[in-house]
Amino acid sequence: MSTSKSPSESLVVLDGSRGEGGGQILRTALSLSLLTGRPFRIVKIRANRDKPGLRPQHLKAVEAAALLGRADLLGAEVGSRDLVFRPGRVEPRDLAIDIGTAGSTGLVLQTLHLPLAMRAETACRVVLTGGTFNPKAPAYLFLEQTWRGHLANLGMPVALAMPSAGFYPRGGGRLEAWIEPARPRAWVRTTRGDLLRIRGVAGSANLREDVARRMRERALARLADEGWNVDVEIEAASWPSPGQGAAIALTAEHAGSAPATFVGLGERGKPAERVADEAVDELLDFLGVPDGAVDPHSADQILLPLALADGRSVYTVSRVTEHLRTNAATIGAFLDREIEVEESVAPDQPGRVVVA
Ligand code: ATP
Repeated sequence: MSTSKSPSESLVVLDGSRGEGGGQILRTALSLSLLTGRPFRIVKIRANRDKPGLRPQHLKAVEAAALLGRADLLGAEVGSRDLVFRPGRVEPRDLAIDIGTAGSTGLVLQTLHLPLAMRAETACRVVLTGGTFNPKAPAYLFLEQTWRGHLANLGMPVALAMPSAGFYPRGGGRLEAWIEPARPRAWVRTTRGDLLRIRGVAGSANLREDVARRMRERALARLADEGWNVDVEIEAASWPSPGQGAAIALTAEHAGSAPATFVGLGERGKPAERVADEAVDELLDFLGVPDGAVDPHSADQILLPLALADGRSVYTVSRVTEHLRTNAATIGAFLDREIEVEESVAPDQPGRVVVA
């Protein structure tokens, strides 16, 4: 290892097969490379996924990050498992990104959000075309309710709109974001407040009217069985979209926390009731661990802004995931910041994240 280089020049080398072994390692590296000026090389990209290497969604994130940071790229093509990214100066601007497939618009937005917010002097608008409801990725309704809620708590205002929904395989959804210049602030939240209410949206695009209605009825019936003494309201929605699809999002609102949203996603041959059950099951898992302040998906997503904030952050999570551990390790490769992910050996116990 060379000692003559300044930290901003030294190459960060990442193994994309470590931990979760998915696209998050790459996306976190892109955000941090832009913000620290440190170049990186990632090998074995998405080695643990069915179709390893860069997919169109990841390539678009790489290209957009390169445009924003005038970066030099090596290995930036679909299927590539080895990428070098050497950033120059970040020049925030409005961006329009067409993923070209049903790949997740939310994941590309999350990659660009912090470099734009933390380097821009005026608000930036990002318009993305692709999927707005994807399996294993933040769906639009999660971003709008939950991610935005957390960002507001960290002092980072974002406005979002979904003029059109995008589902696999057709894509063509549209996600619009207005990102205000901001720096994240530290945050401490170790308890969960009282459950205030549960809200939901059961929506479909270009499917029979009964799909949204059945998802809604199933979710209401299952939640009624649980007997909580809170309001449960689920609205039915019909989304404009070039394709077909259905989803239900259930959001738990607790006093003093960002809302926690859980999404069930339709697919051909999957009954509407099963879609609703997926969202209800995830919601019940979360509510069943009353001391975890943050839901398992937000837990890895808020770690990056908190690692960039001045001051100590502490939060409890209902479940420690591999995504959370992996993100902590990726952040540690770029930043000299002590991050501890503490987990209980007993099942269904919350964990705790400390950013010292
Ligand atoms: P893909 O193989 O689908 O392209 P990937 O390999 O690019 O995925 P991962 O590394 O798995 O991506 O990262 C997925 C991100 O999406 C993580 O930040 C995770 O927290 C988030 N995520 C996954 N499922 C959900 C969900 N249901 N709601 C909100 N966020 C989610």
